[in-house]
Amino acid sequence: MVEPTPTRLTPKLLAEFNPIPKESATRLRRPQVTLDLSALRHNAMIAKRAAGGRKILAAVKADGYGHGAVTVAHALRDRVDGFMVATLGEGEALRQAGFTQRIVVLQGVMNQTEARRAAQRFLEPVFHHTSQIDTVGTVGFGLPLTVWLKVDTGMHRVGFTPNEFPDAYARLSALRGVRPNPGVLTHFARADEPDAAPTQAQIALFQQTTAHCAGELSLCNSAGLLAFPEAGGDWVRPGIMLYGGNPFISDTASKHDLRPVMTLTTSLIATRTVQAGESVGYGGRFTAPETMPVGVAAIGYGDGYPRHAPDGTPIVVNGQRARLIGRVSMDLITIDLRGIKAAVGDSVECWGAQLPIDEVASAAFTISYELMCQLSGRVARHIIEP
Ligand SMILES: *Cc1c(COP(=O)(O)O)cnc(C)c1O
Repeated sequence: MVEPTPTRLTPKLLAEFNPIPKESATRLRRPQVTLDLSALRHNAMIAKRAAGGRKILAAVKADGYGHGAVTVAHALRDRVDGFMVATLGEGEALRQAGFTQRIVVLQGVMNQTEARRAAQRFLEPVFHHTSQIDTVGTVGFGLPLTVWLKVDTGMHRVGFTPNEFPDAYARLSALRGVRPNPGVLTHFARADEPDAAPTQAQIALFQQTTAHCAGELSLCNSAGLLAFPEAGGDWVRPGIMLYGGNPFISDTASKHDLRPVMTLTTSLIATRTVQAGESVGYGGRFTAPETMPVGVAAIGYGDGYPRHAPDGTPIVVNGQRARLIGRVSMDLITIDLRGIKAAVGDSVECWGAQLPIDEVASAAFTISYELMCQLSGRVARHIIEP
């Protein structure tokens, strides 16, 4: 007897489709990020060399700059001395994953409950505002809390001014739940610029402000670490350089022997000929000046490719440098294939091993940090172990 053809999808019928097969055959068609953990470890070695005797807190906030905080922390666990995150939740996630290194929480704690959570998980909150000292109060937390104070030496965003600092330091040190001799840190606003003067002024102000502090000190982000060896301190806090991004507004990452960790690839899902005068994509931003070949790649802003990338943004098709044309859409981009050998199924690299992310970032009016952080959950991750 022939089964009647179902005319309507029912939960029972749907269940028969399960498990939905892994997309092995179609995976090549989808955006994929490849994370080269040997590059990450190499970059940590560059940071360590620049740090001299100073210890390293690896910045793994924002899910390890989009690379996966746990993946990054695992790869770096024997190369760095601790980790730095922005939020208490990010710190707790690392503890949950089993990391026992020191973890500094930049935004600190907002109340007693959070302070107790931090103490019990050996997380080290940064205090940057009096309201935090007020709300944490004079009670203990079961375990002593290791704390840091942030001093504002020129960024003017968060932190105690040098005037407010002595009082904040004395008040925080006197709290019952807090370990004596808080650490002190500051953050550079312009260490990435060729002009050294603003950073030198921040360093001098920090040294003056902390002259009587017995605790640990920390000044440098990646740019500070590479460009201001005289900054000193006990700890450095590199982020972008670990991921192979260029910390400076001039220069290139490779000039500092930094290697790209993240490579974002997809593939061509269509090629077509566009006639002279025809426009491509939403809004018709690009009009073909002549009859020309155009490639369509399976990636868009829904994956984290920057929507603001203009015509001419570099991209690599099958190993050849090509140019983006037309507006980036949610799932697709279009590429000028004039002079390029390409066919459907060919690989497309948006940034990474063959194309520095900083070149794409600067074409798209942003920085590598943002491109890394905004990769979406739709992008499959492939990890190359060291
Ligand atoms: C993010 C951050 C860093 C790391 O900066 P990079 O430029 O990525 O090296 C260091 N310190 C603080 C306070 C930060 O917020």
